[in-house]
Amino acid sequence: MGYRKIDQIVTAQDASDGAGVRLRRSLGSQALGNLDPFLMLDEFRSDEPSDYLAGFPDHPHRGFETVTYMLAGTMQHADHLGNEGRLTAGAVQWMTAGKGIVHSEMPQQESGLLWGFQLWINLSARLKMTAPRYQDIPAEEVPVWTSDTGVRVKVIAGTSKGVAGPVGGISTAPIYLDVSVPRGSRFEQEIPEGHNGFCYVFEGEGEFGMGPSESGTPLGVGRLATLGDGDRVAVGAASADVRFLLLAAKPIGEPVARYGPFVMNTRAEIMQAVEDFQNGAFAVES
Ligand code: FE
Repeated sequence: MGYRKIDQIVTAQDASDGAGVRLRRSLGSQALGNLDPFLMLDEFRSDEPSDYLAGFPDHPHRGFETVTYMLAGTMQHADHLGNEGRLTAGAVQWMTAGKGIVHSEMPQQESGLLWGFQLWINLSARLKMTAPRYQDIPAEEVPVWTSDTGVRVKVIAGTSKGVAGPVGGISTAPIYLDVSVPRGSRFEQEIPEGHNGFCYVFEGEGEFGMGPSESGTPLGVGRLATLGDGDRVAVGAASADVRFLLLAAKPIGEPVARYGPFVMNTRAEIMQAVEDFQNGAFAVES
């Protein structure tokens, strides 16, 4: 079918979440509400402790998945069932909230750089009330492939150049890559036709949505580009090195009812989630 072109470009907006963590939101903003099944992408990046120290104290989730990927610093995770985990630089936590968790995500540092991403991915109606599940992946278990032209790809989920990521059993068949392309080089990735995808640049600048001979669209730091359909995407780095996240997944195609940390199919299910949370039903293991 061919090379995917850039569809829509969105600039990340300053936002605040949790107890006052400053971040940059691209997906899940006014400019781009969602890209089925992706609901939100936040980048937190600061070496100013007042931007992140307050963290994300106890809060609930129901009906979707949260994926945290750290580039620098340490984040401590704890939930109401007694699960705990420490995310250090390069680590990934893929959390399937399912029917409900209450957790906290707190920086474990009082100075220095804290840098990472949180992505929200929807679950289909069939899976929204599934049991919560965690996949905690330390940095050393995220495989990396490199090319002789200097391209470097960390494979968190899905497959790239025959290298499979450690995250498994996710119904939307996601691809999640951290891609570095040095100036003068080019990167190509297969993405199944019909799956939605996007790229988010967090260092440098590149040309996205190149064709076999056509140049791509220039995209710099803090910009997200959604991909049109096709079976592959190509990214070049003509003027600078570029590093970006590449995400793709199978769309769910169901109605989305969203209220804060709850993402369901109907308003009635949202009201039920609020009621269950207020009644403490999330805090009971069943
Ligand atoms: Fe959370």
